[in-house]
Amino acid sequence: MAEAARSIRPLVAGNWKMNGLKAQLAEAMAVRDALAAGPADPGTDVMICPPVTLLAAMAELAAGSKLQVGAEDCHWEMSGAFTGDISAEMLKDAGARAVIVGHSERRGGHGERDCIVQRKAKAAHRAGLTAIVCVGETLGERRAGLALEVVGRQLAGSLPDGARAADTIVAYEPVWAIGTGVTPTSGEVGEVHGAIRRALSQRFGAEGEAMRILYGGSVKPANAAEIFAINDVDGALVGGASLKATDFLAIVAAYAH
Ligand code: PEP
Repeated sequence: MAEAARSIRPLVAGNWKMNGLKAQLAEAMAVRDALAAGPADPGTDVMICPPVTLLAAMAELAAGSKLQVGAEDCHWEMSGAFTGDISAEMLKDAGARAVIVGHSERRGGHGERDCIVQRKAKAAHRAGLTAIVCVGETLGERRAGLALEVVGRQLAGSLPDGARAADTIVAYEPVWAIGTGVTPTSGEVGEVHGAIRRALSQRFGAEGEAMRILYGGSVKPANAAEIFAINDVDGALVGGASLKATDFLAIVAAYAH
């Protein structure tokens, strides 16, 4: 499994969450420019998912560069009377190529259950976006020995049938590691990623074998290489450390292979 995972091109994706005014676009420009100044192939895909207010401007500044732009969430309908919501088609129109769905801050803060996450992932596919589907257990669930069961259930309920490696990415983000500075041990990450890989290949066959599985939760320049060395870790979803170009680029460097 380790060899198969290493044949997968990594992705380092930044999730800016509800951070960033227009001035913050300078950080994205710095990432874009550093990628342009580096090797022709940086060895990993690099993406930033800004708040929707910055999406079109970031897509414009990143056009034609090695910096990809994604979004943080979408509604499952194409259009309609859903005040404050944004459809996957709107995100695509604004320049996104991917969208995060099922982040724990949506699952926890907005009561989004697996069936909602699945509808959002389907909407992403309908619009031609890659769905970055997040799963992960709470601290209580881990302490109760339920991590694999919870992640397995979220995965089964959140991924739509017919998901393909080209349009679907799984992000394992233990809730207790997000924004806390605490990370699971390599053994814990490897155990969950291995279980995710087995579930993906059982359900989606070769497509599941080739699907990227990102780790997210307090990834920093100091721990990025150690996490990337774990079997079946095909990249990182980075929150806080993606806001500063220097930190984000240091993580990108650790994932270039
Ligand atoms: C996230 O929210 O997706 C995340 C991984 O956050 P952080 O890196 O700040 O823990």
